[in-house]
Amino acid sequence: MTRTAMGWFTGSLVNAHPLTESARSITFAVPGWTGNAAGQHVDVRLTAPDGYQAVRSYSIASVGAGEEIELAIDRLPDGEVSPFLVDDLELGDRVELRGPLGGWFVWRPDQCKPVQLVAGGSGVVPLLAMMRAHTDSGSLAPMRLLYSIRTPDDAFFRDELLRHSSTSPTTWHYSRAVPPGWSRAAGRLTAEDLRVETLPPEQVPLIYICGPTGFVEAVSSGLVELGHSAENIRTERFGGN
Ligand SMILES: Cc1cc2nc3c(=O)[nH]c(=O)nc-3n(C[C@H](O)[C@H](O)[C@H](O)COP(=O)(O)OP(=O)(O)OC[C@H]3O[C@@H](n4cnc5c(N)ncnc54)[C@H](O)[C@@H]3O)c2cc1C
Repeated sequence: MTRTAMGWFTGSLVNAHPLTESARSITFAVPGWTGNAAGQHVDVRLTAPDGYQAVRSYSIASVGAGEEIELAIDRLPDGEVSPFLVDDLELGDRVELRGPLGGWFVWRPDQCKPVQLVAGGSGVVPLLAMMRAHTDSGSLAPMRLLYSIRTPDDAFFRDELLRHSSTSPTTWHYSRAVPPGWSRAAGRLTAEDLRVETLPPEQVPLIYICGPTGFVEAVSSGLVELGHSAENIRTERFGGN
C-alpha cells in the first residue's frame, strides 16, 4: 500500500534528464496513481532526516491514466526545494506526492472551443500537458501556444513543441536574447505582440496563461485590453515576480 494517510502517495524516481542548464524532467513511478487531467498539479513533500518537511506544488507534464508522472522543475538559485529536485534527487530516491490537484486550470479533450496557451518560462509545463492531451485525443479544437523565454537556451521541451506544430503550433518570444537571424529584438511581450501572436477576441478562445506571477498578470491584463473577456482567461501563477 503506497498511498499514505492524508492522501499522500510515495513516488520513486525512475527517469530524469536535463531540459536546460537549470531545469530537468523527473519521472516518478507512483503505485496506486490513477491518472490526471492536463493542467493539474501535485504537491511534492520532502522530509529531512531531522523530520523537517517542505512542500511545493508542481504541474504535471504527463497526462492520462497510468502509474507514472512526469514533472519539470526549474532550479531557483536561492530556492529551498527546486535545487534539490534538479541537482540532488537520484534514481530510486523517494518523495511524497499528493494529487492530482486543481480542476479549473484544466483542458479536457471534449472541449471544442479554440484554445490560446501563453507560457512564461517553466509555465509551459501544464500547457505542454494540454498539447499532449490535444494530440493524443486527435482533438480538432484549434490550439496554439505563445511561449516567452529569456534566451533560446531556456526552452523546455523544444523538440517536442516543434513536433506538435502541425496540430498545436508554438510562437516563440525571447525577452533577453534572440537566436541568430531572428527578425526582431529581444524584449518583454508588448500589447502589439499579444495582438499579432494570439488568437483574436472574435474567435472567443479559451485562454490559459501560466508562468511567474508578474508575467501572468501582465499578459492577462493585456489580453483583456485587446477585448478578450476575463471569463475566458484561466491563469496559474508559479510565484516570484
Ligand atoms: C500550481 C503550481 C504549479 C507549479 N509548477 C511548477 C513547475 O511545473 N515547475 C517549476 O519549476 N515550478 C513550478 N511551480 C513553482 C514551485 O512550486 C516553487 O515555487 C519553485 O520550485 C520554487 O521553490 P523553491 O523551494 O526552490 O524556492 P523557495 O525557497 O520557495 O523560494 C526562493 C525564492 O524564490 C522566489 N520564488 C518562488 N517561486 C518562484 C518562481 N516560480 N519564480 C521566481 N521566483 C520564485 C521566492 O519568493 C523566494 O524569494 C509551481 C507553483 C504552483 C503554485
